[in-house]
Amino acid sequence: MTRYSAPTLTLLLLLSATEARSQTSDIFVPNEVRSAYENGTRSEDGNPGPNYWQNGADYEMHIRFDPVSGELIGSETITYRNESPDSLRSLVLKLMPNLFKRGSARDGAIAPEDAGAGVTLTAVTLNGESLNPAPGGDRVNHFMNGNIVAIRGPVAPGSTTTLSIDWHQMVNRGSHGRSGGVDSTSWFNAYFFPRIAVRDDIDGWDSSPHLGTAEFYNDFGDFDVTIEVPQDYVVWATGLLQNPEEVLVSEIASRYRAALESDGMVHIVDPAALEAGGITAVAPGGTNSWRFRAEYVPDFAFAVSDHYLWDASSLVVDPATGRRVLIDAAYNPESADFYEVAEVARNSIDYMSREFPGVPFPYPQETVFNGLSEMEFPMMVNDVSVEDRQYMISLTSHEIFHTYFPFWMGINEIKYAWMDEGWATFGDYFITNRLYTEEPLRLFGMDMFEAEAGGWNDLPIMAGSGQGKSPAYFFASYPKPAFFYLMLRDMWGEDRFREVIQEFLRRWNGKHPTPWDFFNTLEDETGDSLGWLIRPWFFDYGTADLVLGDVFREGDTWRIEVVRVGANPVPIDIAVTWADDRETELHEPVSVWREGAGSHVIEVPAHGEIRQVVLGNDITPDANPADNRYPPEVP
Ligand SMILES: [Zn+2]
Repeated sequence: MTRYSAPTLTLLLLLSATEARSQTSDIFVPNEVRSAYENGTRSEDGNPGPNYWQNGADYEMHIRFDPVSGELIGSETITYRNESPDSLRSLVLKLMPNLFKRGSARDGAIAPEDAGAGVTLTAVTLNGESLNPAPGGDRVNHFMNGNIVAIRGPVAPGSTTTLSIDWHQMVNRGSHGRSGGVDSTSWFNAYFFPRIAVRDDIDGWDSSPHLGTAEFYNDFGDFDVTIEVPQDYVVWATGLLQNPEEVLVSEIASRYRAALESDGMVHIVDPAALEAGGITAVAPGGTNSWRFRAEYVPDFAFAVSDHYLWDASSLVVDPATGRRVLIDAAYNPESADFYEVAEVARNSIDYMSREFPGVPFPYPQETVFNGLSEMEFPMMVNDVSVEDRQYMISLTSHEIFHTYFPFWMGINEIKYAWMDEGWATFGDYFITNRLYTEEPLRLFGMDMFEAEAGGWNDLPIMAGSGQGKSPAYFFASYPKPAFFYLMLRDMWGEDRFREVIQEFLRRWNGKHPTPWDFFNTLEDETGDSLGWLIRPWFFDYGTADLVLGDVFREGDTWRIEVVRVGANPVPIDIAVTWADDRETELHEPVSVWREGAGSHVIEVPAHGEIRQVVLGNDITPDANPADNRYPPEVP
């Protein structure tokens, strides 16, 4: 009853013994992180160090947006705080809309009609001094086709700098990557304003241009934004609307006010209101100015439409204080799935606040706007309409889950996309399986990953998740880290796992955690060395591959051997079918591989003869599932 002849098995065991090493925490620590420990900006126990610093900027903006032409004219005053101990020669700005500038480098194609002049800076004022904003100006230096602009300082340590910028650009409408035109009069506008890049204690200035794949790495700040649009348009944005009575007719404004206090769903703009028109206030100049404020967020986005429905409700997310979150959906009446989105969003936020991560939703509002993307922004989501209800729930909950990672946690997604996509994948898996019970959802992306597991694109998570647009990036950012989190939860139990992750959130919310801060916190909180698990999954080449070895009976016990061929440890799941059709399911958490063993034997009391043994399940990836059965399938 042996699956393998003895020589083959010996060889496999030898191979596994070399691949699997004993446990320690000695994962690779790059010099940049070692320096942070030495400088005291980060601690080796996973806490921010005594000398931790972080810069930030507040943005006061006035935006004029023409939804017919797509022209956006902006004026902003940025108040930048240099909290670092360093004197800065320059301030580095990112002009992200230049993704669409003719000749800019980018990860993917854009519609030819969107390639244009990009951002034109018309005025730059630094601490009251007017500078020449054009390329070639003596203190405003344009790099990388204007995607990066450096404004010469100096900026003293501990100082506050005021930078005012006037600019304009045409917003993309043919290639809706994450933002841009949705239909002839609906838009989702993100990455739309000149902003100061992050300068942190690990890498200094992040002067990488926005290429289209990497999503966010931003400092935190307060936003006070006025958006001026033609009077028939409604505006939704990051932050709470400050002046509903000025921009909405009184009946609609009172519905909005009611939603702020209502557990039930309020149809602020229902089909009857759309049909009757007269939703927004009539303005003498033909435009309304919508004012939004958001505190301590890493980004700002807004959306407009003149023909969308609008549902809203609110939810007490923190019973201790009674704090409510406004949750709404704005959508095209043709989008059949969207009539339920506000309710799904509400249930998702309830799950996040109470169950996992079990931290009250950290912002006062969340809007899901019916655009053409699958994309999160602080307090805003841009989601395409989908036909499949399970997918709609998964998509809605996934994008909202990003509120915690990367927005509340300030993650550098340009380098470590796994630190937020893995969590959003993990979160939407549990929420979707709670809200949609007709069929179980597998981890998002797991099917695609399993088909390529053990191949070239199966890179260590740390190597893959900064790879730009590629399957390796996708696997390393979504299903693999989500599965890693599932393994921790399985190994520690749900409650302990939640406590550990809550501690990570407590330590680093509003800051910029690195992967080492995360790993160190896991070890510090559990008192456990996790190098045996972290190293193979995050740093070493290798894959997840278990093989069903010997299956044999000794008296009243069956012994089932599982051989670890792949270096990446995974939990063991076995389904035994007995001769009388009874079934026994066996499970071992990933910790069975802690000591680096190459094989593991599971004993099960005999219920007579075994008809079939199947190793693995729908949760755990396996690079070669063909060798997971007893008796073996005959090819
Ligand atoms: Zn995501």
